[in-house]
Amino acid sequence: MNGNEFAAWIRRAAELVTADAQRLTALDAAIGDGDHGLNMARGFGAAVAALDALPEDATPGTVLTTAGRAIVSKTGGASGPLYGTALRRAGKALGDVADVDVTGLAGALQAALDGVRELGRAVEGDKTMVDALAPAVAAFEASVADGDALAEAAQAAVDAGEAGMELTVPMEARKGRASYLGPRSIGHLDPGAASTVLVLLALLDVARAE
Ligand code: ADP
Ligand code: MG
Ligand code: MG
Repeated sequence: MNGNEFAAWIRRAAELVTADAQRLTALDAAIGDGDHGLNMARGFGAAVAALDALPEDATPGTVLTTAGRAIVSKTGGASGPLYGTALRRAGKALGDVADVDVTGLAGALQAALDGVRELGRAVEGDKTMVDALAPAVAAFEASVADGDALAEAAQAAVDAGEAGMELTVPMEARKGRASYLGPRSIGHLDPGAASTVLVLLALLDVARAE
């Protein structure tokens, strides 16, 4: 994937979170403060605006760090710093190569997950985006280790991310605003896990178009 393809990923993610903003906000209204759709649409919208200002030949690393920085600076809430850190860490992991292969992308996804974990201190089972992202990254890596191409690895990540997202329903939240509800957070899908799946679906769309 070159810089333009990474930019296409962020643009597609912006489309998907904007199209689903009401659903994300409704999920957050049930166990949080009802702003997750707005936060995601605003953050990824700011990322797209920042990408519009980049030169055509920007590297994948520059694309992701630029998008991440825009999300951090333009988005409030827990999710802004978490998504922003994820993209910045992923961008840093890519260095300044012009074309990223699946192994490089696997490393970047792992770096994104590490960044989210360090900043948010959530582990799997805490009912957060980590419950979708961690299995997705593991599935992507396993697919790449099997010799799969990008579209197959992205599909594996989406499938694992969706399964992880569904597993948040019976969980009691232990991180973020939803944790204030204690046991009343049980029975609801975590909004950040839902938006994580959208970002993975955006990667799959771009991978299929390659
Ligand atoms: P806020 O809760 O500040 O209003 P958002 O509604 O935009 O922010 O995002 C909420 C989502 O952020 C949650 O559904 C959860 O997935 C994620 N989240 C919250 N705290 C953490 C954390 N410490 N680690 C990982 N993810 C978290
Ligand atoms: Mg919220
Ligand atoms: Mg909020």
